[in-house]
Amino acid sequence: MPETELTMTLTKVDEANPAERPALPCDGRTLTGQCRLCGEVLRHGFVDLGMSPPCESYRTAEQLDQMEAFYPLRVYVCERCLLVQLEAYVQPEAIFSEYAYFSSFSDTWLRHASAYVDMISARLGLNAHSRVVEVASNDGYLLQYFLPRGIPVLGIEPAANVARAAVEKGVPTRVEFFGEAAARRLRAEDIEADLIVGNNVLAQVPNLRDFMKGLKILLRPQGVITLEFPHLARLVEEHQLDTIYHEHFSYFSMLSVNRCFELHGLKIFDVEELPTHGGSLRVYGAHAEDNSKPVGRCVTELVDRETRKGMGQLQYYSGFETKARRTKHELLEFLIRAKREGKSIAGYGAPGKGNTLLNYCGIRTDFLDYTVDRNPYKQGRFLPGTHIPIYHPDRIRETRPDYVLILPWNLKDEIVNQLSYIRSWGGRFVVPIPEATVI
Ligand SMILES: [Zn+2]
Repeated sequence: MPETELTMTLTKVDEANPAERPALPCDGRTLTGQCRLCGEVLRHGFVDLGMSPPCESYRTAEQLDQMEAFYPLRVYVCERCLLVQLEAYVQPEAIFSEYAYFSSFSDTWLRHASAYVDMISARLGLNAHSRVVEVASNDGYLLQYFLPRGIPVLGIEPAANVARAAVEKGVPTRVEFFGEAAARRLRAEDIEADLIVGNNVLAQVPNLRDFMKGLKILLRPQGVITLEFPHLARLVEEHQLDTIYHEHFSYFSMLSVNRCFELHGLKIFDVEELPTHGGSLRVYGAHAEDNSKPVGRCVTELVDRETRKGMGQLQYYSGFETKARRTKHELLEFLIRAKREGKSIAGYGAPGKGNTLLNYCGIRTDFLDYTVDRNPYKQGRFLPGTHIPIYHPDRIRETRPDYVLILPWNLKDEIVNQLSYIRSWGGRFVVPIPEATVI
């Protein structure tokens, strides 16, 4: 379908006239088979990664003999707005209320956050009279860098255990899910944002429209929203099938995120392409009616580039299943060959993405003796589904494996650097994506 036709078939959300909205229940989580952005029935598959447990549900030793929940990892693309999406099989409360992911355990991510704070404070001229709100603020990994500058901040984070860590850093944090109701509560307390930050949250909200309405309400008239999320073009081109997991409900292109903003009275006026998480976009949003921020050339250029790739048409999305299978077959071929040669293989990292990959490929302790992670929460536990044990990184030095399979491949350079000592016994690194490669 040509891009112009797509735009025309979309109905703008009309707040004054609810009858004109597409038929959607008010709670997006109860949807089955409808696009979470435009309400169209989902008929076209993008990829089916089979059954997988929620990727952050690390198991304790006692839980290994108990029943474990698996949910489908079946992704669709909406034929009307082309949003690639996963149904909300797992309730967000189950995923996010006791979350094992602490952003501050990655040095690369901390440096990224600190550089962002330097850049954005200067670009927007933030000062003691400004207000920065971060949605899904995690353990305060980012907002902490505003504190020495005297810029008032507020974090909003649904996982109580992670929010506690933020408060201990001196970052004021509220434990709740962000959306229209939360934004209205803040406005009732006279809290408005000059800057709303959302890193890796847009993909993770099941009720996308409620989230976008919240942004619109909380943003000051001249305020700026920056959101970062993995870029769908990179996922497709680099076979990043493991960025698909139950916590990631939506997978955005520039085309679909633009549409998402437009439908909610907002616009994207600038965009940057970032290397984080295997290739992300950082979009800069403002109120649609904010004339002080004209839409920049970067935005139109990226929209054009995606259109030329064919991302405005359904056919683009139909080839991904084959790519995912090829990645699986090549990884298994490598692992089988290595085991036949009597080699030992350990994992590095226990990230969410690793669990998708290992479950999809059926890799258990028959291939991977164990994995390690710097996060003490995960040490002593087992990966969901595959039950591969997780140890402290020192274990690698003790057991001297022939291969170390890097599961968080987006942090490959950092990990190869940290673990360069494995070369002393002839150890090699393996990166699974887009195809198994030994380095
Ligand atoms: Zn749609």
